[in-house]
Amino acid sequence: MKPTSSVFTGLPTTIFEVMSRMAAEHQSVNLGQGFPDVDGPEEIRRAAAEAMIAGPNQYPSMMGIPDLRQAVAEVNKRFYGLDVDWQREVMVTSGATEALGDCILGLIDPGDEVVLIEPLYDCYLPMIRKAGGIPRLVRVTPPNWELDREALAAAFGPKTKAILINNPMNPAAKVFTADELAFIAGLCVAHDAYAICDEVYEHLVFDGRKHLPLMTFPGMRDRCARVGSAGKTFSLTGWKIGYITAPPHMLTPIAKAHQFVTFTTPPALQVAVAKGLRFGDDYYSGFIADLEAKRDRLSAGLRRLGFPVLQSHGSYFVSADISGMGLGDDDFEVCKRLTVEAGVTAIPISAFYEVDPPRNAIRFCFCKRFEVLDEGLARLEKALGGARSAA
Ligand code: PMP
Ligand code: GLN
Repeated sequence: MKPTSSVFTGLPTTIFEVMSRMAAEHQSVNLGQGFPDVDGPEEIRRAAAEAMIAGPNQYPSMMGIPDLRQAVAEVNKRFYGLDVDWQREVMVTSGATEALGDCILGLIDPGDEVVLIEPLYDCYLPMIRKAGGIPRLVRVTPPNWELDREALAAAFGPKTKAILINNPMNPAAKVFTADELAFIAGLCVAHDAYAICDEVYEHLVFDGRKHLPLMTFPGMRDRCARVGSAGKTFSLTGWKIGYITAPPHMLTPIAKAHQFVTFTTPPALQVAVAKGLRFGDDYYSGFIADLEAKRDRLSAGLRRLGFPVLQSHGSYFVSADISGMGLGDDDFEVCKRLTVEAGVTAIPISAFYEVDPPRNAIRFCFCKRFEVLDEGLARLEKALGGARSAA
C-alpha cells in the first residue's frame, strides 16, 4: 500500500499522552501533563450548563459568538491597552492548538521559513512541516534560558515568513523581557515577518511580572496573531476554547483555514467563557496567587530533596536538574522509572527539542492541590532515599 503522510506516520504519540497513560497505569501522582486537578470557577461551569439547556445548541457563527468576541476585544484593551475591532480582528477556535494550526495553515506556504525557539511545544514542528514550512530553530538554554540574540538574528533571512513564539514559555517557564521582545519585534519588522504568538499562559505570570504581548511592540500591531486559551486562564483545559486576535489581513486567511478545520466551537462554552473573561481583577490576581503558592510549595520540596530547581516565572511548570541525583542520565528513562518505582510522573525536557536535546532536566506541573504536591514529594523522598543508599 502507498505510504501514509510522511510527516505524521513516523511521529511518536505526544509525550503528554504517553506519560499520562503511564501515570494511570501505575497510579502515580501525575505531575506530568499540564492540567489543574481542581476545575475552574463554578460560575463559569454553571453558565455553560445553563446555556446548554437554554440553547440554541446549533452551529454558531464560524467566527465565534459575538459576546465572546467582544469579551476578547475588551480584555485586549483592559490588560494590554490594545484597541481591537471584535468584528474584524477576533475569532474563536476549539482550543489554542486549533488556533495555532489555523495560523500556520493560513499564513505559511511551502518553502517559507518559520523561526522557532527551543525548547518548544510539541505540536509546532509537525504542523509547520505539514504546511510545507521550513523550521529554523534557535535555543534558549538552562539554567537561565537566555535568548541568544545573535543566533536569533542569524535565523531570520529573506525567506522568513514568520516567527512562532511561545510567551510565557512551556516548558522553560520563561517570561520574555521587554528588551527581548523589542529585539524580536525589530527582527520581524526588518525582515517583514509575521509573528504567531502562543500566549496561552498570558495570565499565569508570577512575582509581579507583567505579560507583554509582542503585538504591543512598535511595528507589531499589524504583524501578530495573538493566541489565547480559556483552558489555561480558567482552569478548564478540557473545554478547548481558544481565541485569536489578529489584524484583518491576517485573520481573513486564518479564518479560511479554521472554516475547514473545525468550522465552529460549542456555543454554550463560548457563552460561559465570555462571562469569565469579564471577571474582576480579583479573579485574575487570586488565580496568580494560588499558582504562585503551588509553585513555591513544589519548588521548595524539590530543593529539599536535593534537586537543583530552575526558576519558574510563568506557566504551570517548574523544571529540575536530574544530574547528580543518582537517578540516571537520560531524562525519559528517569521519568519512566520515577513513574514505576517512585509513583510520581514528570515530563522529560528532551521531548521539547528536535535534535541533540539536553537530557538532564525533567518538568513538573504544579497546578495541583497542596496535598497532591505533598504526596508526590513524599513519594520522591522515599524513592530517592532508596536510590541514594543503593548508590
Ligand atoms: N500552547 C502551549 C505552549 C501549551 O502548553 C498548550 C497546552 N496544551 C497549548 C498551546 C494548547 O492549548 P489548548 O488546550 O487551548 O489547545
Ligand atoms: N500543554 C500541556 C502540557 O504541556 C498539555 C496539553 C496536551 O496534552 N496536549 O503539558
